[in-house]
Amino acid sequence: MRPVPNWAHKCLAISSTQHLKQQNVVLINVATLHEAERLIESCEQCNPEGAEIPFDNILDRVTGSDPSVTDYILEQAAKCPNCRREILEKTLIEPA
Ligand SMILES: [Zn+2]
Repeated sequence: MRPVPNWAHKCLAISSTQHLKQQNVVLINVATLHEAERLIESCEQCNPEGAEIPFDNILDRVTGSDPSVTDYILEQAAKCPNCRREILEKTLIEPA
């Protein structure tokens, strides 16, 4: 068996610490969801042509979070104002 070089261990240790430090989880409560819903015109379910932006992009705007390090947990699914179907973080929407 070939020994793992020292630098490999070091590298792994650094990247896992950075991950822990930088990753940010934000809970989206119902009030924030309603605020985000106001910025939505339609969703991929009722407007597959026009919906191009993932819903979490709207959440970035509403919460002022950095999209590259932020994950969202929704207290409940948002509702499309147009078709009333559920919208989750990765559902594509059309902004209002
Ligand atoms: Zn819709």
